[in-house]
Amino acid sequence: MVWKVMPMSKGQLLDIAPKDLLCEGTFRLCETYKGGGGYDRFPYIASRKLGGHPDAYSIQFIVQLKGCNLDCPYCYVTRAGIWGEHVNKTSNELVDAFIESGAQVFHLMGGAPALQLQQWPELIGILFKKCPNAIFHSDFMLTEKTHYRSENLRDLNGHRCLYAINIKGLTQKAWLSNTRKPLDEAVFWANWLAIQKSGVSAYVTFTGVLRSDLDTFWQKAEKNSIDVNLWAKESFVIDLIEYEAVKHVDDIAWGTK
Ligand code: SF4
Repeated sequence: MVWKVMPMSKGQLLDIAPKDLLCEGTFRLCETYKGGGGYDRFPYIASRKLGGHPDAYSIQFIVQLKGCNLDCPYCYVTRAGIWGEHVNKTSNELVDAFIESGAQVFHLMGGAPALQLQQWPELIGILFKKCPNAIFHSDFMLTEKTHYRSENLRDLNGHRCLYAINIKGLTQKAWLSNTRKPLDEAVFWANWLAIQKSGVSAYVTFTGVLRSDLDTFWQKAEKNSIDVNLWAKESFVIDLIEYEAVKHVDDIAWGTK
């Protein structure tokens, strides 16, 4: 299968140290505790799941895929990094570049990587065949075009797979302001429930939200059959960071092919 991979955009290059660029900017390395990413609890959550020290999970190999259903005004990937010129890579090529990078975590990022959810199992299979000690990490936005399918999710449930469910607003109004797209609540709750039923290992992040809205949000989640005890304990809020890239977020039109 072929992946549409997005090289780092002009705006992103303002924030990324040149030493972290791989394959002339097609991929990058990210150390969780540098470059403003210190909010991320991924290494701690991975450490609790898999054992070992959190430092063993702090270096990520980042692949950015084309396309996103959202259009966040604070997007540090920028529209050009989501909708600009892509390069085609096979799953084998992605895994080989990961091995070459020496990173611990393979992070399939977007845009919105779950738009290509049906391709994840092939990539995961090749990754663990070639590199059994790797960690596979990716992101769910719960609002990608359609409902997640249980047959796709089942194949993502590997021991060394860990996913983030990234929630971009706690109310309709906040979601619209944060993403410039309306929230389809029916799809949002159905997709979260599908993940919950599949048993895949995931945790929740909230980006740019009001902490005072969290209690009401979790009450609503409970009404939609979300197991709040399961999800709330590993969840955390990500405050917006003023990346240099944000000055370039709207350099090209949204949805450019
Ligand atoms: S969800 Fe928002 S922040 Fe993330 S890639 Fe899409 S537009 Fe950017």
